[in-house]
Formats: sequence, C-alpha cells, structure tokens
Amino acid sequence: MTSRFPLTRTLRPVPEGDRSQILADPGFGRHFSDHMAIAVWSNDRGWHDHRIAPLEPFSLHPATAALHYAQEIFEGLKAYRHADGSVWLFRPEANARRFARSARRLALPVLPEEDFVESIAELVRADEAWVPAVGGEDSLYLRPFMFGSEAFIGVRPALEITYSVIASPAGPYFASGVTGVTLWVTSTYTRAAAGGTGEAKCGGNYASGLAAQLEAQEHGCDQVLYLDRTGGEGSLEESGTMNLCLVTADGRLITPPLGTILEGVTRDSILTLASTFGLTPVEEQTTLPDLRARAASGEITEVFAAGTAAVITPIVGLKGPGYAFVIGDGKPGKQTLAVREHLLDIQHGRSADEHGWMRRI
Ligand code: PMP
Repeated sequence: MTSRFPLTRTLRPVPEGDRSQILADPGFGRHFSDHMAIAVWSNDRGWHDHRIAPLEPFSLHPATAALHYAQEIFEGLKAYRHADGSVWLFRPEANARRFARSARRLALPVLPEEDFVESIAELVRADEAWVPAVGGEDSLYLRPFMFGSEAFIGVRPALEITYSVIASPAGPYFASGVTGVTLWVTSTYTRAAAGGTGEAKCGGNYASGLAAQLEAQEHGCDQVLYLDRTGGEGSLEESGTMNLCLVTADGRLITPPLGTILEGVTRDSILTLASTFGLTPVEEQTTLPDLRARAASGEITEVFAAGTAAVITPIVGLKGPGYAFVIGDGKPGKQTLAVREHLLDIQHGRSADEHGWMRRI
C-alpha cells in the first residue's frame, strides 16, 4: 500500500560522523533529524499535500496568523530502540486523540488520528538512524504541531493551516535527573482557569508560563508548580511540563483531577500501572497547606512529576515566597523510582507490554 506521506529523501543528510557525535550526547531539543512530515489544510480543499520532506525552514509571510494570535497546538512523544534493534512508539493514539481535542479548543481543523500516527511512523522510518542506540534512557523525541499559516491579520480562525512533525534525539531532560528537583510554587501566576485552555496543548500556555519559570529560576528551582489560584493557598495543579503525583503512607497514589490541567499520557499510564505497585490510584484535589501538613506528618511520603520528556522526576522539596519544605527525607522515594523503572522498562522493551501500549514502526 502506498503511504499517505510519501518520502522525498534529502540530498544533504547530516554526515554519519556528525550524527554519531550528536547521538553520543544529544541533550534535549537542540538537534534535529534529516526530515520532517508536512500536511496542509485549507478551507476549500481540506487536508492535502501530505509528505515527508527534507527538513527545511518554513518561509512565512509576516502576517502569518499564528505569529499574531497564537493559533497553534503541539504534541510530544518518543520513539525507543529495543534490544533487537526494532523501533517503537509509546501510545501514539493517545497523543493523536489529545491533538484532536487541542485542535477543537483552538478552532483548528482536526487531523484524522490515522494520519497523525502515520505521519510520525513514516518520519521515524525515514530517520531511523536518528533513534539512539539501546542502553541508557535516550530516545527520539517527536514534535507534531499545527499552526494557522494563512497570511491574514483579522481575528478569526485561519483558513490555511500547516501541520508538521520534526524529530530530535533526546537524552535526560533535567541535568539533575533522577536525583530529584525542588519545585517553585508560584503565588504570582496561574497556568489556567476554568473555561480557558489549560486542557489543550497550545503554545500560548507555555508562553504565559515563561515568566513563572524565570521566577522559579531566580529562586534556584528548575520548574514551577502551579496552583489553581494566586496567593499560595489553592489546590495543586501541575508543573510547567509535567503532571503531579503524591504517594501516601497508606498506599494511595493521588493526582489532581482533570479540568484545567493537561491530560498527560504518562499520568494516565501511571494511574493504570499503580496497582502493579500495590498503590490505589485516586484523582483528588490537594491544597498546598494540606500537602505541607501531610508531608510533615509523614502521611504523604513521596511526590513526583510525570511527563514524556522527563519521564518521572522525583520532587524532593517545594519552595514558595518565604517558605520551603522537603518531602520525605528529601531524597527520591522508593515507589517513585520503582514506577519510573517500570515505565522505562516497558518503553524500552525490557518489560512485557501487558497493556498493549507499544507500536512497532
Ligand atoms: N502537563 C503539561 C503542562 C505538559 O506540557 C506535559 C507534557 N506534554 C504534561 C503535563 C505531561 O503530558 P505527557 O505525559 O503526555 O507528556
């Protein structure tokens, strides 16, 4: 069967020696593979011009809608190399569904889920050499995105949309990695409000979080923790790029309910896996004062953050204006590390895929 995304191979791939050097220490988000997936939508033709093409810059008119009104969404998922050399995606259909939900929220056309998955699969096939070798936690990070590409500066949904996927080899997201991070609880900014775009993966959410991220860095923290209101007394929501999980001494795994947070694929996977670790998954709100009191009493023993890029990151402490406290003994928790290992084992093919999450390329 011919592909919906036919490949035009680049005539100038990154030389093998340079690629090997990049793969030896990929970092995160700095290097890109040789090709990109593209499809275009217009109001009169619908989706057309699907292809895998050499990676190249877009040529954008200064009036391009997305540059002005941020009609843009994106996704993030990874391709993993298994011991036999095969390459696999983790739950790409879940990302496809979330992409469709984000599209509806941003008044963008919905890309059929099969096309989303196929665009990624075909790109990974074309750039298979960019999937890091077995060993360690490295993977090929995939970034599907869609934006209003019509040159028009009236405020309305754009009539021309560009969809694309790029690929970037990825090592650990945080330099401090699995040793654990301290989150800055911002009392100045919120990430989302009821009826807003908190559930959508749109660029605007991340733009509005950058000032909070700078605030966190000024206080020596890697990442922000958002509450559902300013002032520091509200319920926990999520961090800048990860969902939040709390582990209790009596074996519950608590995560904030959906509504104004991103529905993480990792979050959903962990809720499914919880029972494997003797944990009962609970979706429940927790206020910051409650977390602080229950961490001090030993009722909450571990906190971690979960997302595709950083997998699972132990949260060893929280800081806010005028206070700081540690979780447990200030070191990564046992359950956190066990869940992390298990998820990585499934993704990297070292553990049975009991839930049918992996898709071979
Ligand atoms: N929350 C936010 C705000 C995020 O950007 C991400 C990363 N996509 C997540 C949570 C985690 O989602 P996932 O597990 O699907 O990567």
